[in-house]
Order: sequence, then structure tokens, then C-alpha cells
Amino acid sequence: MHEVSICAAAVRAAVAKAEEMGGRRIAVLRLRIGALAGVVPEALDFAYPVVCRGTLAEGSRLELEHVPVRCLCEPCGKEFSPQGAVYACPSCGVPSARIVSGRELELAQIELE
Ligand SMILES: [Zn+2]
Repeated sequence: MHEVSICAAAVRAAVAKAEEMGGRRIAVLRLRIGALAGVVPEALDFAYPVVCRGTLAEGSRLELEHVPVRCLCEPCGKEFSPQGAVYACPSCGVPSARIVSGRELELAQIELE
């Protein structure tokens, strides 16, 4: 289950920041997750308290920030949100292979107590 390693990596990064801030406890950890990141939110929620145990993040809340898929149409120079499985530009109909967002999987923010 790769959600466990995602959680563990995010918590490690958050704890490192909290330690830099004087070892304060973490209240909220916010993760940014793209629609294409292939992450199951329920699995993150399940793994989170387990990987937090015994760290500065123990007892903190996990919040997920969902990032939609955005593509860039090179002929038009426009960004768009694709509809359906083929990422075709709504203006010119050319399928786009340039995904500008939606693959995010990163620590967005932490709030300390
Ligand atoms: Zn276009």
C-alpha cells in the first residue's frame, strides 16, 4: 500500500519543519494531491494516525487539498480542464500531452500548535 509510504514521507518532512520551529507539535498537516497522483484518500486517512504515532505529529489532523487535472494546448497556448479520457482542447480539438497540474503529491502546509 503506497499510501503508507506517502504518509510517512509527508510526516517526516513535516516533523523536520516542526523541529526547525523549536520542536512544536503539529496541529494540521495539509497534503496537496493531484487527480492523477493515484492516491486513495481513504487509505491516507487510515495510514496517517499510524505513521504519526510517537512523532511531533501525533494527534494532528490530515487535510487533503485536491488538485484537478489541467492541460496545456500548445497550438492555442491555453490551459484547460480535460473532460473525459482524451485530453482534447475545447477550442481546437487537438489532444494535449502537456499536463500542467494534477500529478502533485506534496506537503502543502503545516500548522503548529
Ligand atoms: Zn487548442
